[in-house]
Amino acid sequence: MIVMKFGGASLSTSDGILKACRIIKKYWREEKIVLVVSAMKGITDKLFLVSEYLKKNNIKEALKLIEDIKRSHIKALYEFDFRPQAVKTESEIINLISRLTNFINNISQKRITPARVDFIVSFGERLSCPIVANALEMNGMPAHPIDASHIMATNNDFGNAIPLYKKSQHHINEILVPLINNNIIPVVTGYIGFTHDGCSTTLGRGGSDLSASYLANLLGAKALYLWKDVKGFYDVDPNKNKNAKKFMKLSYKKAKALAKKGAKIIYYKAIEPVKNKNIPIYIKSFIDPEEIGTTVGK
Ligand code: ASP
Ligand code: MG
Repeated sequence: MIVMKFGGASLSTSDGILKACRIIKKYWREEKIVLVVSAMKGITDKLFLVSEYLKKNNIKEALKLIEDIKRSHIKALYEFDFRPQAVKTESEIINLISRLTNFINNISQKRITPARVDFIVSFGERLSCPIVANALEMNGMPAHPIDASHIMATNNDFGNAIPLYKKSQHHINEILVPLINNNIIPVVTGYIGFTHDGCSTTLGRGGSDLSASYLANLLGAKALYLWKDVKGFYDVDPNKNKNAKKFMKLSYKKAKALAKKGAKIIYYKAIEPVKNKNIPIYIKSFIDPEEIGTTVGK
C-alpha cells in the first residue's frame, strides 16, 4: 500500500485532475493506494480572505467570494463529467457551500476566533475531495471521498494543530482500512483534522504533506509519493534560478533542514512521521511523471 498526495497546483484545472488520474491509474494496477488531496489552487487563500472580510464585518464580500469558490468547483467538475455521478457530486458541493454560508451568516456578528477561521479554511479540501473521487471513478477506479475531520484527531492548536497518533489510529482502522481492503481508493482531505470536542482544525499552510505523512505512518505504507509542480527537491527554487541543482537522494535529516530553512517543496513537519517508520518519500513531478524525482530516506 502506498500513500500519494497531490497538491493544489496539480488540481488547479480539470486537465490537471485528469492528469493526476492517469498517474494514479498506473500505480493502482500494482498497488493499493490511499490518496490525499489539498484544496484546488488558490482556494485556501480565498478562504482566508473570507475570514478577513468577516473580521471587518464585510459579510457581503465574504459571501460573494464563497459564491465565486462554488462556481469554480462546479465548473471544474462539469469540465470532465456529465454523467449522473457529476450531479451527485454537484449536490455534495452545494451542500458543503450551504454549510459554510449558514455558518458565516450565524457568526457574522461574533468574534472570528482561530477555531472559526480553521472551520472556514477547511472547506478548500472538503470541496476538492469529492471532485477528485468522482474523477477517479470516471476513470475506472473505485474511490470514496473521506473528510479527515472525522479521522485525523489533533490537539487544539488551531492553525497549527498536531495530529495525535493513537486517537487517529483508531479512526483510520475503522474508516480507511475496510475501504483499502476492498480495493477502494480512499480520497482523504489533507490539511484538516478535529479536536476531541469535534472542532475542525488545520495543520498549518502546506499541511496536506503532513496529513499524507501521518497516514503513511499509521497505515504502515510502503512509500509516500508527493506529486509536485517541479521535478524534485532542488538546492534553490528552480522557477527562480536556472542553475538550480536537483538532488537525486536526500537524507531525512537534510531534507528537513532544507525545508525548515525555506525550501517550499515539502512541509518540514512532514518528514518526522515517515522517518519514524523508515518509509521513503518520492518527490515527483505531475507534469513529467516519468522523470526521476528525489528520494528522501535514511
Ligand atoms: N490547502 C492548504 C494550503 O494551501 C494545505 C496544502 O496545500 O497543503 O496551505
Ligand atoms: Mg494548498
